Amino acid sequence: MSIAQNLLSIQSALPAQVTLVAVSKTKPISDLMEAYEAGQRIFGENKIQEMAEKWEAMPKDIQWHMIGHVQTNKVKFMAPFVSLIHGVDSLKLVQEINKQAVKANRVIDCLLQIHIAEEETKFGLDQQELTSLLSSSAFQEMRNIRIVGLMGMATFTDNKDQIKKELTHLKSIFDSFAVRNPQFTILSMGMSGDYQLAIECGSTMVRIGSSIFGGRN
Ligand SMILES: *Cc1c(COP(=O)(O)O)cnc(C)c1O
Repeated sequence: MSIAQNLLSIQSALPAQVTLVAVSKTKPISDLMEAYEAGQRIFGENKIQEMAEKWEAMPKDIQWHMIGHVQTNKVKFMAPFVSLIHGVDSLKLVQEINKQAVKANRVIDCLLQIHIAEEETKFGLDQQELTSLLSSSAFQEMRNIRIVGLMGMATFTDNKDQIKKELTHLKSIFDSFAVRNPQFTILSMGMSGDYQLAIECGSTMVRIGSSIFGGRN
């Protein structure tokens, strides 16, 4: 199937409250344009340099989401245009995003990444660190960053019960903060392999790459 067909079949199966981020990392602009022409306007990239190049070359009504791990010294390259940063996982990074957002004269929306997987290699905060970040006075004084929800990645496994347990855990953390914080509206979880399950578990934003664009090298 073509990129457009993949996209439309996934899009038509998503519930109305779930937003699709088309994960286009490593893919050429011609592939992204095929998705764009089929109506897709939200793209996810995991390298700031690559995202900035695509942003420059492509139509300006695209919303660019940074879904990868962010290095503090590169925030400045995306601050002028990024529409959502998914993988924010430290106060230091929050401070840098706020600083660069001030320079760019805008407010940048971010999700805090929560560590839910068994693998140590995956990034993210635990519940305690999340609480202390959100309640810190340093964070509360920032005016140019807005935390609009949470993001997480389950363990890479075929064990559906385990994935479900991890995604449900993230949803419960999300709910416990959302009741006190009306800006918390986005729960980003689910990729090609687990997005249906993630939606059952309460996801409002899925990040899908290979099921749309095909495998990556
Ligand atoms: C690459 C990536 C995805 C998409 O993965 P697929 O399995 O190709 O759908 C989603 N989220 C993050 C954080 C990624 O790095």
